[in-house]
Amino acid sequence: MADSVRPQLGNGELNPTPIWTSRAPGTYLLLLWLIQPASVDVGRLGAIAFRPGWYIYVGSALGGLGQRLSRHARSIKRHHWHIDALRDVTSLVAVAARPGRERLECAIADQLSARPGACRPVRRFGASDCRCAGHLIRFDRRTDLKLDDDWSVTALVSHGSPM
Ligand SMILES: [Zn+2]
Repeated sequence: MADSVRPQLGNGELNPTPIWTSRAPGTYLLLLWLIQPASVDVGRLGAIAFRPGWYIYVGSALGGLGQRLSRHARSIKRHHWHIDALRDVTSLVAVAARPGRERLECAIADQLSARPGACRPVRRFGASDCRCAGHLIRFDRRTDLKLDDDWSVTALVSHGSPM
């Protein structure tokens, strides 16, 4: 039956969940996997050597979660944020979103960096508009994006990434 046919996922196609069309403002997390060492030119922060591993980027999208997350899911040629350069060399494995107008990025980054094995590899990454230590956290192992029930997590089918 045609109406029971579900979209086939694969080759980085997006999971068709409502988050991609959400217009709500909010805070989001990107779970990124870097398979091999990479040197990335991160704007004013310069060329930075990233170790393989798992990274979580904490961002806010006051103009709408869906549009921003869709942007991060694509390859962006014109880099605007620090994260755009890191996205070029990583797989986006999952995203999480928490609707709301509060500015939570710095507190969430603090919370994540307190997890075992976490570190902030690049001081002030993604933190041009605040005074915190940075919105990028690195982990040796995959870590859970679900911070609490306010967050919805969407896993992506991304070619070659370990699930
Ligand atoms: Zn901050």
